[in-house]
Amino acid sequence: MSGHEIGCCGAFCGRCGMLTGTCPGCTTGYETGDRDIAKARCKIKICCISKLGSTCTCADCPDYQRCNILQGFYGKTGYKYKKYQESLEFIRGNGCAAFLKIAKRWNGPYGSLMD
Ligand code: SF4
Ligand code: SF4
Repeated sequence: MSGHEIGCCGAFCGRCGMLTGTCPGCTTGYETGDRDIAKARCKIKICCISKLGSTCTCADCPDYQRCNILQGFYGKTGYKYKKYQESLEFIRGNGCAAFLKIAKRWNGPYGSLMD
C-alpha cells in the first residue's frame, strides 16, 4: 500500500508536487473516478494501477524482477532513475511504512535511505 504518497516506480510524491499543489501525485484520484487511467501516459503507472490497483506500487508486483517496462525506466540515463529503483528495492525489503518514515524528511521525490 502506498497511501498515494509513493509513485508506482518508487518516486516519493509526498515531498514533490503534492505539497505545492502542482501535481496530485502519481496514484491519487483513480479509485474515485476523478482521474481516468485510460488517459495516463506513463506506461508504468498504466500497468501498475490496472494490474494492482491505485494503492499499490510496483514493489507489490509478482513480475517485478522480470518487468521490462520497469527495468527500462531504471536503466535510463539520470541519477533520479537509480534513486527510484533504490526506493522501490527498499520498499520491497522493508515495506511502505518504513520507507515513508524516512522519505518524509526529504525535500523532493528521492533522497537518502539511511535511517
Ligand atoms: S514516472 Fe510514472 S510511475 Fe513514476 S511517479 Fe511518475 S507517473 Fe508515477
Ligand atoms: S508488470 Fe512491471 S510495470 Fe506492471 S505492475 Fe508489475 S512491475 Fe509494475
